[in-house]
Amino acid sequence: MRNDIERVLIDEAVIEKRLDSMALEIERDFPEGTLVVIILLKGALVFAADLLRRVQRPLEIECLNVASYHGGTESSGRVDFLDRNFPEVKGRHVLLLDDILDTGRTLHAVTVRLKEEGAAGVHTGVLLAKDKERAEEVDADYIGFEIGDEFVVGYGLDYKGMYRNLPYVGVLKSEAAI
Ligand code: 5GP
Ligand code: MG
Repeated sequence: MRNDIERVLIDEAVIEKRLDSMALEIERDFPEGTLVVIILLKGALVFAADLLRRVQRPLEIECLNVASYHGGTESSGRVDFLDRNFPEVKGRHVLLLDDILDTGRTLHAVTVRLKEEGAAGVHTGVLLAKDKERAEEVDADYIGFEIGDEFVVGYGLDYKGMYRNLPYVGVLKSEAAI
């Protein structure tokens, strides 16, 4: 796997240090009481597992499967909810976690849905945010790292289902991206 990586963008030690401070920000921001954390599968799994073990607050964990289609043109983007049930969030404070903020469609669609379902408040957190214009007006409350507009893998992020277990975020060699 390491041989497929052209360069490491963010190494494990740097990620871990950043997660320490993100956890403190979350502890500081959320009102008293139990919060509900919603993890977007599968990309946010690794990030969420490492982040949440640092958060010293009572919390419940839920997972959501969504599919985003970035079809032909930018405006054709659509986000589908794949689970039969949606987590019970009425009156709850929600922390929504995803791996990366790219066009913004995913975070936007899930945030809208959480508000429709009656969440008392929604905060969003991502490990990575691409420095680019978003298709949807959305910004994450907690951002691990801003990166350039390039395709990355590792630390939960995949290419064709692989590389999620790399302990760092890196860029694939072009030969590996086929
Ligand atoms: P958005 O809805 O913000 O465009 O996209 C978010 C989703 O697109 C992420 O959850 C992730 O699955 C995927 N994605 C966007 N950029 C990248 C990337 O650079 N690498 C990988 N592996 N997935 C990405
Ligand atoms: Mg994803």
